[in-house]
Amino acid sequence: MENINKSIQCTVEECRYHCSDCDYCSLDKILVGSHEKFGLGEYHTDCKSFDAGR
Ligand code: SF4
Repeated sequence: MENINKSIQCTVEECRYHCSDCDYCSLDKILVGSHEKFGLGEYHTDCKSFDAGR
């Protein structure tokens, strides 16, 4: 049974840490950052703990 962290909701099913049958992350903690230095909007933030696992 994989770990489910109910404090971290996530819908990125492509990530290896995504719960396979629910919208939660399985890590204890994640790192969130931005890929834009200027003109920051909500769509410029990313989960830096994402791992495609491929
Ligand atoms: S590491 Fe990030 S992208 Fe991956 S499941 Fe957790 S919150 Fe989602």
